[in-house]
Amino acid sequence: MNYSVNQKEELVFKCDMCHKEHIIEKNEVMSSFDSTNSDEREMGIEIEHLATISIQCNCGNEIEINISVWEYPEGCHNDESDSIDVENGKLISCFPLELPEN
Ligand SMILES: [Zn+2]
Repeated sequence: MNYSVNQKEELVFKCDMCHKEHIIEKNEVMSSFDSTNSDEREMGIEIEHLATISIQCNCGNEIEINISVWEYPEGCHNDESDSIDVENGKLISCFPLELPEN
């Protein structure tokens, strides 16, 4: 994983332009997963769960957060591979990501 974990059930990041701190609640993050990629590998199917969250900061900056949560083999969360990318902002920390419910 490429993010630092917090115990607050929140995804926390800053705007690159005005440095305002933004918080998105865990519930909102987990309900944003709406697509998957899958691949057949040795131990079965590998699934990448994808979420994109776009917000506009008060300063006008458009910030986009792309989250990948990995499932491999099927039913197992491979959290080593999880990643969060923030465009036009800087990620501060996030709750431990989980596999989204179907
Ligand atoms: Zn801003």
